Amino acid sequence: MATKFVLIGSGLAGGLLAAYLGRRGHDVDLYERRADPREGNIVGGRSINLALSTRGIYALEQLGIADEVLRHAIPMRGRMIHDKSGALHFSPYDRDPNKFINSIGRAALNTTVIEAAQRYPSVRVHFNHRCTDVDLDSATAKLVSSGAEGAVSAADSDRQIIKARADAIVGVDGAFSAVRQSMQKKISGFEYDESYLAHGYKELTIPPAPDGSWRMEKEALHIWPRKSFMMIALPNPDGSFTCTLFWEFEGPRSFASTETDDQIRHFFEEEFPDAVPLMPSLLDEFKTNPTGSLVTIRCAPWFYKDKIAIVGDAAHAVVPFYGQGMNAAFEDCVVLDKCLAEHPTGMIVDLHRLSDPHAVSAPLWLTLCAQGAALQPPIVIGVCLPAPISIF
Ligand code: FAD
Repeated sequence: MATKFVLIGSGLAGGLLAAYLGRRGHDVDLYERRADPREGNIVGGRSINLALSTRGIYALEQLGIADEVLRHAIPMRGRMIHDKSGALHFSPYDRDPNKFINSIGRAALNTTVIEAAQRYPSVRVHFNHRCTDVDLDSATAKLVSSGAEGAVSAADSDRQIIKARADAIVGVDGAFSAVRQSMQKKISGFEYDESYLAHGYKELTIPPAPDGSWRMEKEALHIWPRKSFMMIALPNPDGSFTCTLFWEFEGPRSFASTETDDQIRHFFEEEFPDAVPLMPSLLDEFKTNPTGSLVTIRCAPWFYKDKIAIVGDAAHAVVPFYGQGMNAAFEDCVVLDKCLAEHPTGMIVDLHRLSDPHAVSAPLWLTLCAQGAALQPPIVIGVCLPAPISIF
């Protein structure tokens, strides 16, 4: 029996989940607060590229879109450690050279999963619709539509309030989930914990060489580990690398205390001397690009009756050093699909299994991380930071 779903958020997991539900013939309305990423409006201030690992690829394979995605990916066969002298040390992720993680652009991946969802006639995607509230008992989402101008900038006169009712609503709306906030308000005893690192992140670029080639080893995740902070760089198909500096927000050496051209240049020349000549726009980018924060969200439960569920970052946002937030979010979609397959009557009560640690590996994985257990080599991307982010 087909069930009517409303999904909130067409980020990485939202598009994928819509495709899974569409494949089963469910009726799906997917609402996204931002404009269509195919119009070039990919989320600003978020990572430009990500490490896609086996569990994420498995989720894509089940829908037959892994090859489509991996066409845009670059294998990263190991870590390339850059020390302060500029010396390089390569450490493969696995003895088997066929086991590696993949650098994939967020925009390409987001577009692919949305297009995969739209291939199913029962899936409709509505951009520029921001969910403001969810009535849990009637599974009704309140949304503000803002026309084609984008949810943030549209004039008040263009805005319309819409109510979308369904058999079930799934919040796939990221770390600051509106669906989760509605659950917090309604469910007594809802457990919620958010913690921010003292570190933020800033993205910078190493452009391609004049002939379009990569200026460093292409098939590696580059890391400049520096005790309490680090920079990483992932390759892009256009010959560039996206670098991410993870650094303290405050302190004598920090984002806050590094503002002038001289300070920025001095810091990079001291810490990342081999990268500086490869970063012609360093000063501009450092001053212009946003400094993002890094949040971990733990909450429970991840469902309400047979009506509401949250998956992906909405349920379990993690810091990026594991390289697993998206991969875990994709795995959530696989598990939810399995739950629905086992009960083809379409009873949403199966969403309850999302809180079963044996059903979803994400919380289990989080527990392992909290205990400091070793993760499998192919899914650990970094190597260096001390507490509170000594998780490599
Ligand atoms: P999101 O991708 O955040 O999507 C949520 C969507 O919901 C967005 O499109 C948003 O616009 C929309 N939305 C939000 N609120 C509303 C609302 N009220 N109404 C309507 N729509 C709404 N993970 C990895 O696996 N590998 C990596 O290498 C990796 N690197 C990372 C690097 C950085 C710097 C960061 C910050 C994260 C990284 N992650 C990585 C984590 C990964 O980005 C997230 O885990 C992943 O994006 C989660 O997917 P999601 O669909 O749950 O949420």
